[in-house]
Amino acid sequence: MCGIFGVCNNNESAKLTYLGLYALQHRGQESAGIISSDGKKFSNKVGNGLVSDVFLKKDFSRLKGFNAVGHVRYSTFGSSSITNAQPFAINFVDGNLAIAHNGNLCNAELLKNKLERDGSIFQTSTDTEVILHLVAKSKKKTIEEKIIDALLHVKGAYSLLFLSGKKLIAVRDPYGFRPLCIGKLKNSYIVSSESCAFDLVGAKYVRDVEPGEIVSISDDELKSRRFSKNGKNAFCIFEFIYFARPDSLVFGKSVYTIRKNLGKELAKESQPNADNVISVPDSANVAAVGFSTESKIPYEIGFIRNHYIGRTFIEPKQEIRNFGAKIKYNPVCETLKEKKIVLVDDSVVRGTTSRKLIKMLRNAGVKKIHHRISSPPIKHPCFYGIDTPKMSELIASRKSVKEIKEFFGVDTLHYLSLDGLIKATGMEKDNFCLACFTGEYPIKKADNCR
Ligand code: AMP
Ligand code: SF4
Repeated sequence: MCGIFGVCNNNESAKLTYLGLYALQHRGQESAGIISSDGKKFSNKVGNGLVSDVFLKKDFSRLKGFNAVGHVRYSTFGSSSITNAQPFAINFVDGNLAIAHNGNLCNAELLKNKLERDGSIFQTSTDTEVILHLVAKSKKKTIEEKIIDALLHVKGAYSLLFLSGKKLIAVRDPYGFRPLCIGKLKNSYIVSSESCAFDLVGAKYVRDVEPGEIVSISDDELKSRRFSKNGKNAFCIFEFIYFARPDSLVFGKSVYTIRKNLGKELAKESQPNADNVISVPDSANVAAVGFSTESKIPYEIGFIRNHYIGRTFIEPKQEIRNFGAKIKYNPVCETLKEKKIVLVDDSVVRGTTSRKLIKMLRNAGVKKIHHRISSPPIKHPCFYGIDTPKMSELIASRKSVKEIKEFFGVDTLHYLSLDGLIKATGMEKDNFCLACFTGEYPIKKADNCR
């Protein structure tokens, strides 16, 4: 996942980036960092944990300059140690260069081995550092040309932000796997993974960075260049299903509208006789509203989610059954007792969440449970920046829908069809990566390494 945010031409660039990262916190909670620049010198602060834990008020007197980039990390490649926290910076013949990356490079291992054989010394175990080494080695003249030269070697998913001299440079891979959009705040440009971060800082959404586009911003001037024409988009459809915030525009579309449509399509496909629709909060709330609107079955709050869970728990010695799920969700017995319930979730990965929540619903006295999932069964791993487990751990790659229904202990189970999923987006199927559902990877399978 990961979230990236950058500001160009603003005296409060680091503070705005801090706010932007706050809005993007849902995209990664492992580490957070900011690098700011006054055109010559970089200042940085990175740390493990949430944005609110990493940055202190006093950091902002140090994080000087009119440009800044920030990152919240959710690791897919490389360990979660602090040395892997982004943004990274290097100093090379052209001066300072900082990078923040959302995505996953498929051929990073291969490139890294080659670079190391040629004498490169890596500081981190991330795929992102490979790009910096390739840029530093490029013989091209301008920084934009060097970045393009580097990216021609790289395969996979990348939405990137760079700081160099007075410039903020934004790039999206030729498939456009991960989102990246441009906003404007008076004379400043802002670039963000999602538009919800613009709302917080008072910026206006302008447009997306296009797949295969490099945008170079200096002062209040924006220059754009297409470095690759792939001809086929592969937008990650999971951004609409689960990752992105519903108040964002992603790939130029409202996540809220599409997520609600997912629920509506789901209700059209399989509508049980039930008293209430409930959701697995918060990620399935909007789909459940859509299901309720279409089915006319009233929506109720069935679970309360605790939002204040830290990284570790101090558990009592005496065993508490399903402790992990219980600390996060608690059923509202009032709405559930003796009821026939439609339980909507956005996706099933290993099946752990569903199984535990269904047990809680039974304990709360629910009479019938109709489980509805607003995406098709996930049968294949992701190689493009999402931390899905290997195939053997994906419940839908091992069990049929009927077997999963039995494993969950529900009365009925229905997953949204692939056609229903596409229909809900209002976009052409060709625009999307659907690999975790279909196994048809946009990038040649041999190149899909982690
Ligand atoms: P699981 O318990 O493994 O089946 O995971 C399913 C739950 O995790 C659902 O409630 C989803 O909202 C959520 N989810 C789906 N994909 C991911 C992901 N890549 N990372 C974290 N949570 C996810
Ligand atoms: Fe998104 Fe699935 Fe494609 Fe990964 S495999 S990019 S999660 S649609």
